[in-house]
Amino acid sequence: MNVLVTGGAGYIGSVVTRVLMREGHDVAVFDSLVTGHRGAVPRGVQLHVADTRDTVAVRGALRDHRAEAVVHLAAISQVGTSVLDPRGYFDNNVRGSLSLLDAMLAENVGRIVFSSTAAVYGEPEVCPIDEAAPTQPKSPYGDTKRMIETVLQRYGAAYGLEHTSLRYFNAAGAMPDAGEDHRPETHLIPKLFQSALGQAPPVTVFGTDYPTPDGTCIRDYIHVEDLARAHTLALGALSREGRVYNLGCGGGFSVQQVLDAARRVSGCPIAVQLGARREGDPAILVASSARIAAELGWRPAYPGIDEILTHAWDWMSKHPNGYDD
Ligand code: UDP
Repeated sequence: MNVLVTGGAGYIGSVVTRVLMREGHDVAVFDSLVTGHRGAVPRGVQLHVADTRDTVAVRGALRDHRAEAVVHLAAISQVGTSVLDPRGYFDNNVRGSLSLLDAMLAENVGRIVFSSTAAVYGEPEVCPIDEAAPTQPKSPYGDTKRMIETVLQRYGAAYGLEHTSLRYFNAAGAMPDAGEDHRPETHLIPKLFQSALGQAPPVTVFGTDYPTPDGTCIRDYIHVEDLARAHTLALGALSREGRVYNLGCGGGFSVQQVLDAARRVSGCPIAVQLGARREGDPAILVASSARIAAELGWRPAYPGIDEILTHAWDWMSKHPNGYDD
């Protein structure tokens, strides 16, 4: 299929691009490069540098590539920042997605895989979380993703748009030539390795008094390549009714366990300091991915935290300056 990947110069999008190509799809990337990197787009892949809110530019890219489907990842995605700047988040993520959908309808592109998030669940009542759990986002970021899931449902019914939404838990790890390069970095795993490489001060553990066995937060880390593979499966199973799938490994590791694994994998002592809770962090976020396993046959190839961290460490130690662009 000819696929346009929005946000394809970002961390997850660049891996999705590679995995789609490996599966035989013809991919073009649409990215504003505000947080993405030119260097993350594989050679030979057409890169359209524009904002999704620019409907004319999106239409041009869809036409240029004769797109048959869109994988839509372009978004700003920090829970904490979204609380301080809801306007920016609604504008970028909601208006950007509506503009993209306008362009798709105008160009008769009727298929979309949408990048959603575990943040739609807010503070879950039951773990592991399945897709039937109530969605009560605690942040504007979660709101923006939940809103677009609803828009897709309505557009499917009214306009025949075929869609699937994937609710990501904690993407981590890397491919040999594509990894994490956020500026500034806020995520636990790359921050630990930046500290191991002497590029950053000791990481603060956000909270040690959570109701978990070691007092630190538990998250469901999923290898970014496993996450990306789910997009190829989703592209083959789109429908007007639209399906929503969680994507995690179902295990769950605490911040302390991730720290121990990062020390093992890097062979570095990695000093940390214990700090206060970060606002908005639920104690435990672990997915049930039973639905996507049953319906699409998805299984993680890299369910172990050490393997995920080994790939992240390989990428970061070989690319200490990220993409250099
Ligand atoms: N975390 C931490 N220190 C940091 C960054 C993150 O203790 O400097 C914790 C955070 O509270 C959460 C987990 O690590 O429990 C994963 O956070 P991250 O920001 O990587 O992903 P998120 O869960 O916010 O999507």
